[in-house]
This record gives sequence, C-alpha cells and structure tokens, in this order.
Amino acid sequence: MAKPKISTDWMAGCSGCHMSLLDIDERIIKIAELVDIRATPITDLKEPDESGVTVGILEGAVNNTANEEVAQRMRQRCKVLVALGDCAVFGGVPAMRNFFSMDEALRRAYVETESTDSEGKIPTDPELAVPTQTRALNEVVPVDVFVPGCPPDPDVIFYVLSELAMGRKPELKDDLLHWH
Ligand code: SF4
Repeated sequence: MAKPKISTDWMAGCSGCHMSLLDIDERIIKIAELVDIRATPITDLKEPDESGVTVGILEGAVNNTANEEVAQRMRQRCKVLVALGDCAVFGGVPAMRNFFSMDEALRRAYVETESTDSEGKIPTDPELAVPTQTRALNEVVPVDVFVPGCPPDPDVIFYVLSELAMGRKPELKDDLLHWH
C-alpha cells in the first residue's frame, strides 16, 4: 500500500505549532516510516507536488491574501486538511487584530512603531500581500480535522499524525484536549 503523503505549511501565527510537532522527538521517526513527507516550511520545500497529497497540515490563521492562497492551494491538493493549533482553529492571537480597524492596525504597525524597514509609512508595494480580517482556516476552506491548543500538546500531534498515517480519522477525546 502506498504511504500517505503529508505536506505542512504555516500562515499567520508564531510557528510554535510546528515546534510542538518537532517536540514529539524520536517518535517522529516512527511517523516518518509510515508517511511520505512532501513539503514543510522547515525543509523549505514550499510547494507540495501535484500528484495528490493525502494530508495537508496548516498552522496559523488566515489574515492576508497570501494566506488565502496557501489555504486554497492546500485544500485543492490534499484529501484531508488539518487545522493545527488555536490560530487555525478559531483565529487565536492573530484575531486580536480584528478589534481594530485595518487602517488603525496598519498605522500602529508601521507609523506609530519604530521600524527600520517602513520609514514610518504604510507600505504600498503591489507585490505585498493585502491584509484582511483575520479568519480561522475553516472560514476560508473546508477543514476535516481540528487540533486545538496553543500550541497543541506533542502527544496530541503524535496521536493525530499516527491515526492519519494509518488512514483513520483521529477522534480527539476530552482527555486529549487541553490548553496551555
Ligand atoms: Fe503560535 Fe499558538 Fe498560534 Fe500555534 S496556536 S501558531 S503556538 S500562537
């Protein structure tokens, strides 16, 4: 039987969920034997190949047009999409920005904050992603598996990856759901 192909990526957040994934330590070898890891931000292979990825794992909230593209690309290419961590599950810390108007948030970020890059101006480069309201992943694309936590516990991530590697849908029982 062909191994499931897994791709991971991150959007708006702190990358702590991927660090928690690495905290499953030597058990990652067991996972690596069961799956074919196609792309991760850590390996810097940004593009999952086109041949059909079984499981896509996305960390972080959607808060600009570049994040939207990542979410839609992962959804198109992956049979199972996993929202990893509170930011992906319900918006988490990045969603605090939604309490402010976009103009105010940009002004605070670029004008009222010391910055060596922006020279006190809001960037207008058309190459840059356009900020949007911060949204949970399932507000942008359908999600199959939600793994809450900030970050999710490594034991929970290991359980979820093990189940997905075996072709099963993980059922997160109450004793696995705890927040830090
Ligand atoms: Fe970072 Fe927590 Fe968001 Fe994960 S859920 S990206 S650890 S802030």
